[in-house]
Amino acid sequence: MAEEPKETEPGFMNPVAGFGVTFKAMFKKRLTEQYPEQQKTTAPRFHGRHQLNRHPDGLEKCVGCELCAWACPADAIYVEGADNTDEERYSPGERYGRVYQINYARCILCGLCIEACPTRALTMTNEFELADSSRANLIYTKEQLLAGLEDTMVDTPHAIYPGTDEQDYYRGLVTEAAPGTERQVAVSKGEKPDDQEVDA
Ligand code: SF4
Ligand code: SF4
Repeated sequence: MAEEPKETEPGFMNPVAGFGVTFKAMFKKRLTEQYPEQQKTTAPRFHGRHQLNRHPDGLEKCVGCELCAWACPADAIYVEGADNTDEERYSPGERYGRVYQINYARCILCGLCIEACPTRALTMTNEFELADSSRANLIYTKEQLLAGLEDTMVDTPHAIYPGTDEQDYYRGLVTEAAPGTERQVAVSKGEKPDDQEVDA
């Protein structure tokens, strides 16, 4: 036969016993962070906002293959690829990502998309301040995701480095924009290079 549970006696100290936890916590190291006034450095491989990378001459690495979109478990990526032409080239190969969007209302920052990308076009930055009250603002476009221009780069569209092919870009043989690329971009935009501060 099961033993009857003993009734607990209402002790004098019971009402104050719970404060023991509070008292012990008073002497522990404080974990409170003064965010956003004091920003904490994230881990080097933190999964933050995405970035679409460029080759050293400024051409885009994305080839519009949509593998990132297919790998995404949250259906957060939308890609539309298009053909490069001799007159308007955005990447060294045949295709480029004409439309690229990531919906941060859906994204769970898992990183599966960057693992799926065959060209390392898509990587993730350490930026984590992505909150917004508008759904539309949480859909980042290609223009927002595309990496900025470094000193060796010229913005697209422009031709590949003369005497190279797509493979040379992935072998690391193209390290900067070809001389005259800025002039070429200006002409393709219908501008008059002589009126611009560009190199001939
Ligand atoms: S990080 Fe994950 S959820 Fe976000 S876009 Fe990439 S695959 Fe989708
Ligand atoms: S980011 Fe990578 S995987 Fe996604 S479309 Fe571009 S090349 Fe393909």
